[in-house]
Amino acid sequence: MQDLWKNQLSWDAGIPHEILKTWKTFQSELSFLKDIKLPRYLKNVYSESVIVQLHGFCDASSKAYAAVKYIHVLTDTGEIFLTFVAAKTRVAPLKQLTIPRLELCSALLLAQLYQSVISSISVLIHSTFLWSDSQIALCWISSPPSKGNQFVTHRVNQIHSLIPNGNWNYIPGKINPADCASRGLMPEKLSQHDLWWSGPQWLHDKHLPNFIANETPSDDNDGTYLNDSLSFASQVKPIAEFITKFSSCSKLTRILAYCFRFVHNLRSPSKKCSGPLTAAELVVAENLIIKLLQEQEFSVEIRMLRENKPLPCNSELLALNIFLDKSGIIRVGGRLSKHSTLNINQKHPMLLPKDHHLTRSIIKEYHVRYLHAGPQLLLSLLRQKFWFSHGLSIVRQECYKCLTCRRAKSQSCQQLMSDLPSVRITPDRPFKRVGVDFCGPFLTKPNVIRSKVKLKSYVALFICMWSKAVHIELVSDLSTAAFLAALRRFLSRRGLPSDIYSDN
Ligand SMILES: [Zn+2]
Repeated sequence: MQDLWKNQLSWDAGIPHEILKTWKTFQSELSFLKDIKLPRYLKNVYSESVIVQLHGFCDASSKAYAAVKYIHVLTDTGEIFLTFVAAKTRVAPLKQLTIPRLELCSALLLAQLYQSVISSISVLIHSTFLWSDSQIALCWISSPPSKGNQFVTHRVNQIHSLIPNGNWNYIPGKINPADCASRGLMPEKLSQHDLWWSGPQWLHDKHLPNFIANETPSDDNDGTYLNDSLSFASQVKPIAEFITKFSSCSKLTRILAYCFRFVHNLRSPSKKCSGPLTAAELVVAENLIIKLLQEQEFSVEIRMLRENKPLPCNSELLALNIFLDKSGIIRVGGRLSKHSTLNINQKHPMLLPKDHHLTRSIIKEYHVRYLHAGPQLLLSLLRQKFWFSHGLSIVRQECYKCLTCRRAKSQSCQQLMSDLPSVRITPDRPFKRVGVDFCGPFLTKPNVIRSKVKLKSYVALFICMWSKAVHIELVSDLSTAAFLAALRRFLSRRGLPSDIYSDN
């Protein structure tokens, strides 16, 4: 039933084959249940000269947890009678719990069963033994209740209130009678299961064995936090560590290429490579670095691409139309794939993480290789092989950090200007004091119909020294006569100035 719930089947959906098969087997074996007989009579229990012990066992698996009770009677003649008293099982909750927590739930179930047994039979119980195969659960029960987290604390408190001084012991899982109930049995096997109905054989001995746990019980195996201490473990991936060791990408590539060569020479001593590294060796090493980096940074996207599934809708790479090439490197898609004659790197650049040590070292490498190229040129050069988002801003940052560029572009200090002369700041009539200068040449057409000739002309610029008012005169050439004509036109229009300044 729980499997049906887990599969989230609707009421009219077909039952999966595996579940149906199990159900059919269960149904066919139901007839075996009628052979099971439980004697109600507890032999010799009410005699005064006997020693009565109550033994409870609990166990849990990912499917269910269970508890079972036996009464152990030792008569004065030395005879031992062991009788099955009660048992209870529960399926594990749908919300996944760790096995130690389920074991603790089974211990609580055993404590509850103990209470119901004690209240049901009016027998003097001389001693009670409780057995569990979980050392962690036993450790939780024996520890002060406030030590664990809320889930554990709550259940341990309940156990302690039900059985104040419970005699909890360890038992190996193989000889634990509650083991079969926690894992589940088909009716046929259940009817023949001696360990369940008759209890463990070692209880027929006069002296109880002392089972020694294989491992030191520890209460931090639960996989959850504890109040007393926190420990964080991080797995450092070897490639990440290796990449960050080198500030230069080319150095990293060359070292890796030498490693490959070393491995190659060991594997095939007859074809040993020597001498300087070849371009092919460097390409192989560089591609491997990019591939490992991508596997580290874009693991989700690579898994999706390998399984031919769409990328997650919140993925930053969704718009890039990425794909895996033959060597397993993520490349950016585009519209050049079919008809362009460019090489693969230019058509589909390799994807790099935007803010990674290696990306930045590649940018630095290119910046120096192309003689301290500026951001725009550098980005266009990088784009011929690599693609990373926020390209221009990252490239700008790296260019800004370059010490050589900073030195070369440093600005010299500006000369402090002297005070302005009095003619510039004394208010007066416009064009009372003027400065004159020429600008040009400008190409002009003579005032002749259909003329194709273009003439060089100049502009005489008269500027009022105080108000900065401008008077412009067209001058046909650089001769004195042409200037005097322009000056005459200026004087006729603006009146006679007292001073004219010129730099000529
Ligand atoms: Zn530079």
